[in-house]
Amino acid sequence: MQPQQLSAALAELDASHSRRTRLMLESPQGPLIHVDGRDYLAFASNDYLGLANHPALIEATREGLARWGLGGGASHLVAGHFGAHQQAENELAAFVGTPAALLFGSGYAANLAVITSLMGRDDAVFADRLNHASLNDACLLSRAAFKRFRHNDLDHLESLLKSTPAKSRLIAVDAVYSMDGDEAPLAELLTLAERYDAWLYLDDAHGFGVFGDGRGSMAEQGIAGERVIYMATLGKAAGVAGAFVAGSAELIDWLVNKARTYIFTTAQPPALAEAVRTSLGLIAGEPWRRERLAQHIEMLRHTLSGVKYPLHASRSPIQPLMIGGNEQVMTLSARLREAGLWVPAIRPPTVPEGSARLRISLSAAHEAGQVQRLAEAIVAMS
Ligand SMILES: *Cc1c(COP(=O)(O)O)cnc(C)c1O
Repeated sequence: MQPQQLSAALAELDASHSRRTRLMLESPQGPLIHVDGRDYLAFASNDYLGLANHPALIEATREGLARWGLGGGASHLVAGHFGAHQQAENELAAFVGTPAALLFGSGYAANLAVITSLMGRDDAVFADRLNHASLNDACLLSRAAFKRFRHNDLDHLESLLKSTPAKSRLIAVDAVYSMDGDEAPLAELLTLAERYDAWLYLDDAHGFGVFGDGRGSMAEQGIAGERVIYMATLGKAAGVAGAFVAGSAELIDWLVNKARTYIFTTAQPPALAEAVRTSLGLIAGEPWRRERLAQHIEMLRHTLSGVKYPLHASRSPIQPLMIGGNEQVMTLSARLREAGLWVPAIRPPTVPEGSARLRISLSAAHEAGQVQRLAEAIVAMS
C-alpha cells in the first residue's frame, strides 16, 4: 500500500459496505449508553456480568492507586512486578484450579506469548477455523506449521494430527467462539491431545466468569492436567482489563523467561490487579449474575424462535442473529438504532463471507424488560 492508494482503497471498503467506524461513548459501559447526543439501549459489550462499572471495582482501583500509585513504571522482569500482581496471580490460579498463573496486559498479548514461546519452526499448531484473530496471529508469528481444522470437527483435527511430522504439537481453540457463541468439545479435544502428545490451549475469553460457576469452561467441563494451558481475558466478564494464562508452575516459569510479549512490555498498573482481585470476589460470590444472564438468554431465544433469521445455537451470552449479506445486516442494525437499540453488525473478514450477523450480547446488567424490548423490535422488523 502506497500513500496515494489509501483513498481509493477506503472507497472500495465503502462500496462493499465493509468500512468500519467507531462509535464514541459519552457514558460508562452499561446497558444504557450515550452516543452522539443520544441514549441507546445497548447489546454490544462483553461486560457479561455487569462489572465494568461496578462501584466495588472502582473503589478497589481507587484504594489500589492510593497504595501503589498509578504507573507500573517498568516491565515485570525489571522492576514492575508488584505485590498486587502476585496476589492476583495466586488467586486466579486457585480460582481456575491450576498450580500457577501469569498476568498479561491483554488477551492478544497472552495468546502471542504462549504460542510463540512454545512452538517454533519444526512444530505444528492445529487451530479451529473460527479461532479468534489473535490466536491466528500467534500461530503465524510462531513460524510453526499452521494447520486449520473445520469448526469443531474432531475427525478433521485427528486426520491432521495423524499425518504431522512435527516435533511438538499444540491444539488451539476458543473455548467459547467469540462471533458464534458456541463451544469447543474440551474433553474430546483433551483425549486427542493425549493420544497425539500435544498441548491443548484454551482461549476462554468468553467463558471465564460465565461458565463453571464463574471459573470458566475448563472448570465446567472438568478437564485438567499439565498439557492443558488456559487463557482468559479480564476485560470482558471480569470487567477490568488484561488477561491471564494458567497452567503448571513450569509452564508459567517458561513464559516468564521466554514470552516476548511478557518480557518486552511495561507491567499493567498494579491498581488494576487490585480491581481484578475484587472482581474475582464478585464473580465467585454473586451467582445471581449468572442466573439472571441465563434467564435473559432463555427469554431472547424463546421470543426470537419464530423470526425468519435464525439465532445460532448458543448457551453463552453471545447470541448471533444470522443475517447473511453485509447490506442486509447494516440495514437491520441501522433500523434498530433508529429505534434506540444498539446491536453491532459483524461482517467479513471478522466472520466468513456471506455470514454477516447481528451479534447480540447480553449482560446481567440488563433488565428483563430491556431484553424483551430488543426481542420485540427484532420480531417487528423481520
Ligand atoms: C477479546 C478476545 C481476545 C483478546 O483479548 P483482549 O484482552 O481484548 O486483547 C482473545 N481471544 C478471544 C476469543 C477474544 O474474544
